[in-house]
Amino acid sequence: MAAVDYARLVDYHMHHERCGHAVAPMEAYVRAALRIGLGEMGFSDHLFQYWLPPDQRDPELGMREEELDAYVAEARALQRQYPQLRLRLALEVDYIPGREAELARILARYPWDYLLGSVHFLGNWGFDDARYLAEYARRDINAIYEEYYDLVGRAAETGLFDVMAHLDLPKKFGHRPTRDLSGIQRAVVRRLARAGVAVEVNTAGLRKPVGELYPALDLLTLCREAGVPATLSSDAHRPEEVGADFDRALEHLARAGYREYAAFTQRRLERRPLPLPTTM
Ligand code: ZN
Ligand code: FE
Ligand code: FE
Ligand code: ZN
Repeated sequence: MAAVDYARLVDYHMHHERCGHAVAPMEAYVRAALRIGLGEMGFSDHLFQYWLPPDQRDPELGMREEELDAYVAEARALQRQYPQLRLRLALEVDYIPGREAELARILARYPWDYLLGSVHFLGNWGFDDARYLAEYARRDINAIYEEYYDLVGRAAETGLFDVMAHLDLPKKFGHRPTRDLSGIQRAVVRRLARAGVAVEVNTAGLRKPVGELYPALDLLTLCREAGVPATLSSDAHRPEEVGADFDRALEHLARAGYREYAAFTQRRLERRPLPLPTTM
């Protein structure tokens, strides 16, 4: 087993009960981080579905709009209560084309340390939602990937996000492209590099049917070659998932050629040396 030097690492992607599909309050995640000796963690709960009228928002997909103030206040209170751990204030935000101005207005109200940009919707289809899996059979899988990566590129170019989350998410349930998409992957990576956004190595895919890290090694290597910074995340939806499988994430980053990872304070990127797992 490989030992992970959590004190020198960050876990930048986690949720808690406010979003309606993760469990436990924020403090339980802080305590889980302290148990493994994590140096820094970011709260990144799902923003409410800002592009829908309040009565049409799915309560299982994000916090309620009225809870955003309490979420921010609670993160700050926890930082005062647990000064031994650096807590970052963040959100996971859905990118919906055409809604950039609305989103910018919401985000401008708080001093985020970083924002995770996610594409979970193609039109109004939540393609990573197990409730709507049937739609895969009605569509061309390659077209799904093409549309998805184009949206990821557009999201990066908005300047609203610091890190693009789970970069190859359409593989979540095991749906693979049936033709070579490396040209499309290269194009999206160029767009990320030009936009100056980072990516995350997200270990949640290991807990999903696909059983793989996001993104796959070939895509992560393209990111590294293009100079796209990478950070680390568990995408925990339960406290015991904080820092999960970070030995795998570190090996993945090292194999892709990364020697540094990205950390964020008030949306400024800092590069830190990547501590490699040691065998014990
Ligand atoms: Zn979630
Ligand atoms: Fe997500
Ligand atoms: Fe998430
Ligand atoms: Zn996520």
